[in-house]
Order: sequence, then structure tokens, then C-alpha cells
Amino acid sequence: MQKAIYINITGKVQGVGFRPFVFNLAKRLGLKGDVWNDSAGVSIRLLMPCDWENFLKSLQSELPPLAKIETIQTMEVPWEGQQPSDFTIKFSQKGEEATDIVADAATCPQCLAEMKDPNNRRYRYPFINCTHCGPRFTIIKEMPYDRPATSMAKFKLCEACAREYHDPTDRRFHAQPVACPECGPAISGIFSPHTNLHTTLKGEKALQQAIKALKLGQIIALKGLGGFHLACLATEDAPIQLLRERKHRPSKPFAVMLPHSDWLSQICADHINLKHATEVLSSTISPITLLEQSATSPLSSLIAPDLHEVGLMLPANPLQTLLLEGVDAPLVMTSGNASGHAPALSNEEALASLSDIADFFLFHNREIVERADDSVLRFDKRGTTEILRRGRGLAPDSFALPQGFPTDQTILAIGGDLKNSFALLHRGRIFTSPHFGDLNQPDVFAQWQKMLEKFPKLYHAKPEILAYDAHPAYLSHQWAQRQKIPALPIYHHHAHLAACLGENHVPLKTEKKFIGLTLDGLGYGKEGNIWGGECFLANYLSFEWLGGLPPVPLLGGDLAAKEPWRNLLAQFNEFVPDWEKYAEANPIKKYPYSVLLKAAKSGINAPLASSCGRLFEAIACALSIAPEKQSYEGEAACCLEAFASAPTNNVHPLKIPLKGNQLDLETFWQNFLDWNAPKAAKAWGFHDALAKGFADLAKHFAEIYQSEIVVLSGGCLHNRLLKERLQHHLAPLKLLIPSQLPAGDGGIAFGQALIALAQTTAS
Ligand SMILES: [Zn+2]
Ligand SMILES: [Zn+2]
Repeated sequence: MQKAIYINITGKVQGVGFRPFVFNLAKRLGLKGDVWNDSAGVSIRLLMPCDWENFLKSLQSELPPLAKIETIQTMEVPWEGQQPSDFTIKFSQKGEEATDIVADAATCPQCLAEMKDPNNRRYRYPFINCTHCGPRFTIIKEMPYDRPATSMAKFKLCEACAREYHDPTDRRFHAQPVACPECGPAISGIFSPHTNLHTTLKGEKALQQAIKALKLGQIIALKGLGGFHLACLATEDAPIQLLRERKHRPSKPFAVMLPHSDWLSQICADHINLKHATEVLSSTISPITLLEQSATSPLSSLIAPDLHEVGLMLPANPLQTLLLEGVDAPLVMTSGNASGHAPALSNEEALASLSDIADFFLFHNREIVERADDSVLRFDKRGTTEILRRGRGLAPDSFALPQGFPTDQTILAIGGDLKNSFALLHRGRIFTSPHFGDLNQPDVFAQWQKMLEKFPKLYHAKPEILAYDAHPAYLSHQWAQRQKIPALPIYHHHAHLAACLGENHVPLKTEKKFIGLTLDGLGYGKEGNIWGGECFLANYLSFEWLGGLPPVPLLGGDLAAKEPWRNLLAQFNEFVPDWEKYAEANPIKKYPYSVLLKAAKSGINAPLASSCGRLFEAIACALSIAPEKQSYEGEAACCLEAFASAPTNNVHPLKIPLKGNQLDLETFWQNFLDWNAPKAAKAWGFHDALAKGFADLAKHFAEIYQSEIVVLSGGCLHNRLLKERLQHHLAPLKLLIPSQLPAGDGGIAFGQALIALAQTTAS
């Protein structure tokens, strides 16, 4: 019997054009054999003798853009069955047995070139796509991923498209959303009801009207891949002011879409590596990338008030490309939702919720089945990526379990209430959902619940265990307790740390000890404590609280997260005996603060919390740079970071010494109030002193427990200055820092899943 080489490949190899790629490569190299999808990836057999090592080399270097290989195993086997005379793709009877779901991908260079070619049949067609690009997750109704199971089902392929779809040598072979002007989706446009213009425009006319409206300074709503966007000119103040008023969004930064990457050199600060920025922006993810602006940036200052960074992106779908080309100027491109609501997905929802905001609507008739907001990330000087939000292009995603975890369990980890995303642990992998946001918004909660039911079905999974946040007031917590499957409560900060251990591939069983620092807003801790600036000894299975910030009352309960002055009052009342004499107390004095203090004394509506986030808000307020009311989470802290400027040689008198296992804020405040220095230097000094204080705490316990590794997590790690100072002061200890998962609450579901699996394995 003749021999064969059997090759098994795992990773993102299904639904990304991998088999036709293998087919064409094998043909080119004159190899005989076959390729098929299996439950774990893709399998290939090559008839021996052949130069299979050369085949593998080409396979890895010429990979299709959306494919990613995790493992390759090879084995010599006898060739079973009839000897092949050629290379073939084997299809299973049940259609595509895809096990992984691919995220939507930005338009590929070939499709862009075709769209710009007047001789191409898809010239200026806003839905051009191929195996390497276009919608995926957002059009899937059920698995297996096949056209009838997507929102493309209603568009019957024309002859020309069908030919491409069935030809393994074509770029559109089995591309489910394949379409053309003859047979595919189309755009239309209407004026907002408040304009009293009742014409409906079709195709190119609708697009031209949208371009005209934008150039006139109007606001348009346009349908994208994973939801609607609101757009207006980004280089002029008036349209942005109008958008802010109509959207009731006074200061939260807007993302900006650029017509092309040439704009980066005008907008970005000198030190930005433009080559790297261009690569990131034009990747298949096409994310919003946070970049520092130059002083001469042509963008309106109303886009990101008081901040240095601005979120930039390039067109992610063909319709956006055509629109931006037509306007030929940067556009604000923000999520198409009314204040306090989820982004609109259907034309009807958009009309109902955005008519007071948009002047013109650019619709299309391909249904958005699932929501996917734009992903957000940034990179540091070394080029290391920090993902802040996983949406279009990055979700769903899947991660292999770290070593030592069993692979036979199915766990649904539902995340927390804020910045929610969830995770499904199944067949030894963790599949992460897109970002949902704040579950306290009823329509977000409804979208989330629907997706929680659908997501496991897409992966043919039946959750055996739910993992959820231990906070009893969380809606997600209450939802989990209503379900009929066993549910495990997971402490918030333990989940943060486990997520970071997991993304850094720390095995389940290890001799190593980990000191964890979790710095964030609030999380429910052991014995009902509200934590947010803590030091732990932690692994997947357990975590032990070691110390952290001293707790102070949240004056007015939830209001403390909205109004920074309440946190300054709490700090002063706790740590500064004669605080009323300082100028820094002025922002407090216009409020009836003594009533609050009295209430706190009697324990009314003033739960204790050791929150790092609230401390940032107090400092911002003391320096008079905090808003009276925060209009978005973390606003005061973002302003404080942007405002900070290093004193000469980084020298300052601020210290937060250790007092037992706590940071001594009494000493800090005395230093802070006595130091006569520019506010920007004080803002910087605070970041540095806080980082030094936490670093000293971590080092203290690292010595006691003979640990050499510190795990950092929590939303405050999105503060670049704080992170940089922590890295500085924690040297020479080894650090584990979130990068692929958000350091904030968007990453905790991943940690919940790992902890739940560790606990069920141990018991
Ligand atoms: Zn393409
Ligand atoms: Zn067609």
C-alpha cells in the first residue's frame, strides 16, 4: 500500500477560504491527495512520495488573510481507499461542519481594486466581498455557516455570482455573502421626518445625497456591518456641536473615520510610528485606534475635549469607502444609538430612535442579524497592542485553554454588568462574544439575553455551568440565579486576575506564586466588601486578599460614581482634619456637604469602598479639572491623565507610604496639599506616587510569598501613565499585563470561565 502524509491543522482555518487555498497550493505544486474540515480544524492527506515539507512552508507563508494557524501535526500513514489521481476537496454531507465562527472583516485590497475599476461588474458596488473579506458573524442566523442560514438567503445568486461561488480556483469560492448589483443587496436613502422631504432615493442617488448632506454640515445615519453609525464632518465645529446636542452627549469622545491613511501624518503627534499605525488601521479588523493628536491636527477640538488621544479608523466596509471618498474629509463615525440605548440594527429601529438626530438616512436591505460595535485598541511605543473593546473584526474570537485544564466541560461565563461581554468555554476553547456594554440599559439587556441563548447553539454547545459575578445587585447575577443550570458566583477581582493569567498561558497547575494588583472602579469582594484598589495572592483556583487602599464611604451610594466632588469630600473627611481651609476644597463648598457627612456618620447611603477609580476622581476634583457630573464612565480620570505633565526629572515630594497592609493616604494628602506646584505636575505626581505605593505593596508581599510575578488588571490599567509608572516601579519583578483582552470589565468573563473550570475540576 502506498504511503501518505497526514497533516492536521488547528486554529482559524474554517470559513476563511482555507480549503480552496490548500487545493490551489497542492495543484500548483503538483501534489495528489485531499483536504477536509474536521471537528478540530482542517485535515490534509498528501500521497507520498512528495516534498510535503516544502508544501507546509508555502502553506504557512502564503496563508489567506483571515486564517491563523495554532498547531500543525504531521504523521505518516498508509493511504486508505482508492489512490488519488489528483487533489480534491472533500465535502461532508451535512454541508460545512465549521466549528469556529469568523468575525466580520474589512474590505480586502482585491475587492477595493475591483470596486474602483469601471470595467468590473462590481464597479462602485457597496456590498462587494469575497472569501477574504466582508460580513460573517453579523449575518449568521444559525450554524452550519451556509448561505441559507444567513441574512443573504433572500438574495438568489445570479449566474455570474453562482459560477464564482462554485469554482474552487475563484476568490469567491463558497463566500456566503457573495453578491453583485444584479443579485445582491442595494442601498436606499430617505430624509429624516423632521425635514418634511418625502422622496426615497435609490442606489447611487442615495449615496450622492448622503455625501451632499455631510458636506453641508448635516448629520447622517448609515447602516454598516454590525449596526448603524451617525456621521458628520470632523473638521468643523458646528456639525459636531449639533451632534452633541442632539445626541445628549456633551463630552464623550467621538471616533473619526479617515478617507485614507495619508491623513495620519497631519493628525498624529510626531512620535507616533505612522507605518505601524497604518498597518493596524488597515488590518482586517479595521479597529478604532487611539492615537495622540498633534497640536496642529485639522480635527475639531470638540471631538475629544480635554484629551490628547483621538480614536481613528479607516473605512471598514465598501459603503463607508464610497462615502468617505465622496466627502474627501474625515468624518465623525459614532455608534448610531440614542442616549441610553443600544445601537440600532434595523432600518425601522434607526428611524424610530435616530430621527431627532440624523437629517438623512442611508439604508441597505441586508439584515444585520447580530450587533458588532467597532473594536477599540491602542498600541504602545514598543508596538504592543492593548485591546480596549472587542467588537467587529475581533468577535467572536476563540482562545485555547491554558495547559492542564480539562477539555470536556461546557461553561457559559456571563461577565459583569458594565462593559459586558461574555465567554463560552467549550471543547477546550474559550469563545468570546462581542461587546454589549451596560446591561442596565433595557434594550442592551434584551440583546444580551437573546445572544446568550443563541451563542452556545452556534457552537453546538449546551452549557452545564454558568459563571457569574458575585455582586448581588448586578442584573447579570440575578439573571444567572433564575436559570435552571448550576451557577457559580465568581468574585470580580479574582476574575480580572484569572483572565490575565489565562491570556498569558499560565498553566492550571504551577509552582509559581502570583501577586495580583487589581485597580478599578468597584467590584464585589469577600465579606461584602466593595473593592477597587487591592493586592492579592492569586491563582485560578483561589485568591487571598492581602491589602490595598483604605476604604472610604461612597457618599450618596451610586451618585459617587457620577459626581467627583463626593469622592473628594469622602477623602478629605477621612484623611485631612482641617480640609475646609484649603483652596482644593472649593469645588465641594457649593454643595450641601455637611448633610452628606452627617448621613455618612449614621451609615445612611454611604457604603465603604476602596476604589482606585473614585480616588482618581477625587484628585481630579481637587485640581478643579473634573466635570461636576461625569457624562461617561472614567471621564474625570481620563482628563486627569491627559492633564498630567511630568515635573523636571520626574522629581516630586508626593509619597504614599505603606501603613501595615494599606496605602497611607493621610500622609499622601498632607504632601499633596502642602506642595505648591503647577496642577499638571501635581496630576503627574499623583499617578507616580500611587504607582509607587502599589508597587511597594506588591513587592512587600512578593517577598513574603517568594513570588517573582505580579499580575496587573482592572479598568485603571487603561490609564497609560499609571501603567507606565507601575511598570517602572515594579521592576525587576516580572509583570503579566492584559493585552488581547480588555483590562477592564470587558475581560472578566474570560476569567470567570477559567475559575469555574478550575473549581469544578478541583471538587
Ligand atoms: Zn475581498
Ligand atoms: Zn450576482
